[in-house]
Amino acid sequence: MAVNLLDFDLAQLTAFFAEIGEKPFRAKQVLRWMHHFGESDFNRMSDLAKSLREKLVVMASVEPPRLIKEQLSDDGTRKWLLDVGAGNGVETVFIPEDERGTLCISSQVGCALECSFCSTARQGFNRNLSVAEIIGQLWWANKAMGRDPKGDRIISNVVMMGMGEPLANFDNVVTALNIMLDDHAYGLSRRRVTVSTSGLVPVMDRLRDACPVALAVSLHAPNDALRDVLVPINKKYPLAELMAACRRYIEKAPRDFVTFEYVMLDGVNDSLAHARELIALVRDVPCKFNLIPFNPFPMSGYNRSRPEAVRRFRDELAHAGLIATTRKTRGDDIDAACGQLAGQVQDKTRRTQIRIMESAA
Ligand code: SF4
Repeated sequence: MAVNLLDFDLAQLTAFFAEIGEKPFRAKQVLRWMHHFGESDFNRMSDLAKSLREKLVVMASVEPPRLIKEQLSDDGTRKWLLDVGAGNGVETVFIPEDERGTLCISSQVGCALECSFCSTARQGFNRNLSVAEIIGQLWWANKAMGRDPKGDRIISNVVMMGMGEPLANFDNVVTALNIMLDDHAYGLSRRRVTVSTSGLVPVMDRLRDACPVALAVSLHAPNDALRDVLVPINKKYPLAELMAACRRYIEKAPRDFVTFEYVMLDGVNDSLAHARELIALVRDVPCKFNLIPFNPFPMSGYNRSRPEAVRRFRDELAHAGLIATTRKTRGDDIDAACGQLAGQVQDKTRRTQIRIMESAA
């Protein structure tokens, strides 16, 4: 079977070319063609020797996931649905803002972590995405969005906040991050690439050592009792451990703060008492808060906090000197808001298998 070169970062591509008897600089050339120019046809990679092009046509491919559908919202938000095989689809979303353009990328088909307010969790878990499937989301979006009149890429930021827990797919996510950051590929700044985790503490340390980028943590609760319900991985890695991991991460991170994501659930985690508890919890962690109005979905059992409750909560944090912004809901007309990056997930049985494997480990 042909090797999909979208699965490789520069180091891996260099090793591949060495194996087939080619010089290391070929890796940079091909990386540039694939990601910088969005080219998938070796015959159009005009600065490669003809003999190499012929060799690559036989033994390799540049194969992003197949594009099923592209949607454009009235507010400029764009969404792509990509086919990742066996009836599964993943979505990626572009959100335009004044100063930047952010692409939200998925890392798994479904998610095994069962956060109680999350629509992805309800769909079950199928599998990790490959590197080509992760970077393929940026590949498609970048091709569609292109560059602005000054020649800068429209996509300036990437957040790994779509479907899945990125740190549960560590190796593939790190390889995809390497490609995003590589000047021969997308050349994104480490400060503009964010990995969002629900708090897999040991893997946060691994990310800090392997590929430090900006970090967001799905916090959603100010105490263990409530977080055990909303984000059940908290039972394994409780808040004290999570806060310590955040402090360790910041020591090496490109940004000197962690972003805490906090979904606002009416009557559940949005009182002033919760805000005060939160202030005490994060007192030793340089951080910013992103308050997210909940996007209700059928049978979720939760409601969106009232706007005045969100305002009061945010003001309480601000009075304590914390920076807190409220996320605008974008792309509502195409279901592109947080927690609605659903896609299609077949085979929900895998989550049980994973739980068994985890408890056996
Ligand atoms: S919130 Fe994130 S980690 Fe939790 S179930 Fe949803 S996708 Fe998974």
